[in-house]
Amino acid sequence: MESERNGKATLVITYNSVEGYPSGTYNGKNGPVVVHSNGNAKTWGREEAEGKLGQIMHGLYGKVDQDDVKQIYLYVGLYAKDGALRAASNIAGNGKKLTLVACGCDRSEKSHTAERIGAPIIWSECGGLHTLNKIVSEELTK
Ligand SMILES: [Zn+2]
Repeated sequence: MESERNGKATLVITYNSVEGYPSGTYNGKNGPVVVHSNGNAKTWGREEAEGKLGQIMHGLYGKVDQDDVKQIYLYVGLYAKDGALRAASNIAGNGKKLTLVACGCDRSEKSHTAERIGAPIIWSECGGLHTLNKIVSEELTK
């Protein structure tokens, strides 16, 4: 049972990027960590962010509700906040272990949504690149 659980994937989803981990699959000690991101250096502007998130979520359609997914980390920033919170609601609705990684912009709205869907929040800096880096590094080694 233990090995079965450990083989499941961790998904990290951000419309920005993860510092040090370009989009792709990384083999951790206890299962793969899959980063879905864009190769930008900081954060997308308001115009682009929702589009970038939409592309990623479209590519993930049908994948996030599979049984081989252990944990999902979803970045919720400022510019694609609405799309990200919608995506969060959908993912949480599938009974998955969702954790939001959110910057402090519009903090109360993010807190309320997280409470409503029952997902914890890891607070991050704007853009989330560094916090996501720490999360991926920890997931790969724990
Ligand atoms: Zn912010």
